[in-house]
Amino acid sequence: MMHATEPCELSIHAALELLRKRALSALELTRAHLERIAALDGQLHAYITVTAEMALEQARQADERRARGEDAPLLGIPLAIKDVICTCGVRTTCGSRILENFVPPYDATAVARLREAGAVLLGKTNTDEFAMGSSTEHSAFFPTANPWDLERVPGGSSGGSAAAVAAGCAMGALGSDTGGSVRQPAALCGIVGLKPTYGRVSRYGLVAHGSSLDQIGVLTRDVRDAALLLRVIAGHDPRDATSLDAPVPDYMQQLEDGDLNGVKIGVPKEYFISGIEAGVESAVRKALRVMEEAGAKLVEVSLPHTQYGIPIYYLIATAEASSNLARYDGVRYGLRAEAADMWQTLFRTRALGFGREVKRRIMLGTYALSAGYYDAYYLKAQKARTLLRQDFEHAFQQVDVLACPTTPDVAFRIGQKLDDPLQMYLSDVFTVSLNLVGMCGISVPCGFAEGLPVGLQLMGPPLGEAMLLRIAHAYQQHTDWHTHRPPLAIQLSTGG
Ligand code: GLN
Repeated sequence: MMHATEPCELSIHAALELLRKRALSALELTRAHLERIAALDGQLHAYITVTAEMALEQARQADERRARGEDAPLLGIPLAIKDVICTCGVRTTCGSRILENFVPPYDATAVARLREAGAVLLGKTNTDEFAMGSSTEHSAFFPTANPWDLERVPGGSSGGSAAAVAAGCAMGALGSDTGGSVRQPAALCGIVGLKPTYGRVSRYGLVAHGSSLDQIGVLTRDVRDAALLLRVIAGHDPRDATSLDAPVPDYMQQLEDGDLNGVKIGVPKEYFISGIEAGVESAVRKALRVMEEAGAKLVEVSLPHTQYGIPIYYLIATAEASSNLARYDGVRYGLRAEAADMWQTLFRTRALGFGREVKRRIMLGTYALSAGYYDAYYLKAQKARTLLRQDFEHAFQQVDVLACPTTPDVAFRIGQKLDDPLQMYLSDVFTVSLNLVGMCGISVPCGFAEGLPVGLQLMGPPLGEAMLLRIAHAYQQHTDWHTHRPPLAIQLSTGG
């Protein structure tokens, strides 16, 4: 069958239309993706595990369901899952030696919902170990390359998901965002990344990193696709005590075309600081003008505690991580390095099983929580977090959303920040606050600097996803940044 567009370049909503018209089959679509993975993943290393057989079987079932006249929101759509999210019967490594051979006996709720919606699961994507990092270089297995420039990082920690979606090796993907890990790699790979409000998506089956910060998010090539995926995975789950019992709007229906009349967009002055790359700032400023021309009103606002975001985050996230990671003891999950007694086994397992960054965080977090330092560090950070939340609450009394760059710079070179943890941490300077305050955000492509993608971040109040999606979608109606594809995907699509 001939298609006007190469199947791996279709958006999810366009593919669904073709599937519904029977102009494309789930099997063709899945095969095309598996072929593209086979052609490109040797360079990209986006996947840790490719579940080709299972994907083909799910695609066949999707086609059978269609043949019987059934439909479902994602019936036959091939997606990828970050390898910190549990998949029943499929290895879930968290990018770590300690879970290298861990096969969960259950699906995360988000994965179960995708399956029920008819999605085809292509495999599990690379991540910084336990989602701790901003470049995917802290994966215990291999770094992932950015499809726009193979010598650069795709961002992280959901770098495998972002690279796969940008390169057409998945139509969309799940990621997790504790301090920016969905939005930052989406920005660096030129795609859309949405971090929902804390509690909007169930975290049951998401391997815990920082429990008061973690949220599952989606990575797609356009905003409409993000709305589609969020609609499927959002909603209350009795198996996650932090999940919100609030109705899930029909995000798709609320996307209006182009008009931003009456929308107030706050521009936080603390997010346009020196140190931000000139090309990034100018692309974001242009995006602000586009939204203004579409009818939005720009209002300068202040989030005065912004400078404390990174220190607060790296105290709280490490404290929570040190406690969450205590469960990897060589007894219950994954790796066990046998030794003379229980304690020696525990020490050896953790010494061999965890990488440098994870060990650094366990030590920092344990220190921040230890008797004598708890008040000075952890408790102080929690108090400062309250001030940060008040900044946002105050801003959202004046404006509907906030707009800023997603990252201070474009994708950096592999190796460039690896030996300098502080530089690595600083690449999260514009994303961590949102997790600390539990609100929602989206990154959308807004241009290029030095030939590399730049992301515009829109931040919204609790459960503001529908509004974020509507504004981001309107922005896309006035620009074509989301339609640009990395050179390596174009070569394949044109057979060049
Ligand atoms: N880069 C941040 C960190 O290293 C955020 C990671 C994330 O969101 N999972 O903690």
